[in-house]
Amino acid sequence: MEGLHEVLRRARPAEPVISLVVPVFNEAQALPAFMAAVESRIHVPDARLELIFVNDGSRDGTLSFLLQLAAARDDVTLVNFSRNFGKEAAMTAGLDHARGDAVVLMDVDLQDPPELVAAFVEKWREGYDIAYGLRQSRASDTRAKRVTAGAFYAWFNRISDTPIPVNVGDFRLLDRRVVHALRQLPERGRFMKGLFAWVGFPSVAVPFERAARAHGQSTWNYWKLWNFALEGIVSFSTAPLKIWSYLGLLLAIGAALYALFILARVFLVGIDVPGYASLIVVMLMGTALNLISLGMIGEYVGRLFVETKRRPVYIVEGVYTAGGRVDTDGGSEG
Ligand code: UDP
Ligand code: MG
Repeated sequence: MEGLHEVLRRARPAEPVISLVVPVFNEAQALPAFMAAVESRIHVPDARLELIFVNDGSRDGTLSFLLQLAAARDDVTLVNFSRNFGKEAAMTAGLDHARGDAVVLMDVDLQDPPELVAAFVEKWREGYDIAYGLRQSRASDTRAKRVTAGAFYAWFNRISDTPIPVNVGDFRLLDRRVVHALRQLPERGRFMKGLFAWVGFPSVAVPFERAARAHGQSTWNYWKLWNFALEGIVSFSTAPLKIWSYLGLLLAIGAALYALFILARVFLVGIDVPGYASLIVVMLMGTALNLISLGMIGEYVGRLFVETKRRPVYIVEGVYTAGGRVDTDGGSEG
């Protein structure tokens, strides 16, 4: 590895452009503090920053704030979605529109400390292509969220072919060629953590303490998180499809043994009528397993359906810069 790092280190431009990609959904309250933090807390020597905001269908003052900002500053680009497409789509759009030599993905709520951007760039200059923030503790999360997140990562990494690092969010720097690789992945279901891991490249963790949200509330409730986890697992593993044949085989063996046992008992002791309880238990179990396996197949078939429609990941209402509105045809150019 040492050799590759040397080569990459020398290939880094002396005065790079670093793009900050920031997905924004109903964050009018958080935006002024975020801009102040960008000014005062990000100091990257010998580099130019550009800001790409993706407004993900906000329904508060977010859009007018960002429109003004984009008009006033030539280092700010606003990509405005036609509606809410979710954070994963917003990050995808940000990567599509970023022009920097390296791109940093960052939340607007200041849970990702802006100071880390300089540390990321430092690692990038050393020759790493990906530098990602590693949460030292999940103290800012609730206990229940910590437990469920822990269980998810343990399970995901067991059954997926591409393990993802634990306690790592989307907050990271990506070299241009990583962005290029990500943009080549055509899938609609964009579980970014999995995609980051899948494309590979030399990566390094930068530890940090995750702060509590500066303003407002997280829009992730448990139902959304559950669906996010399901998306991740179903997109990166086919194990849930395959376990049913083995479970069925086990059940069949169990049933055969039980049948032998009943037959033997009939011959030895004679017929005894009761059996309702065991019957109903076996019946309900069998039916439940059938439904679960069918549902699991449904998860995959549903995603096949979505992928085969080949709809774009997001629709852009407009792209705004200091020069005004940039013409787009509304689709994603990804
Ligand atoms: N976000 C988005 N679209 C959404 C939900 C969230 O672009 O549908 C943005 C949000 O504005 C923030 C980031 O994604 O910049 C992270 O959101 P949040 O803080 O709610 O998530 P958490 O920190 O709890 O993971
Ligand atoms: Mg947050």
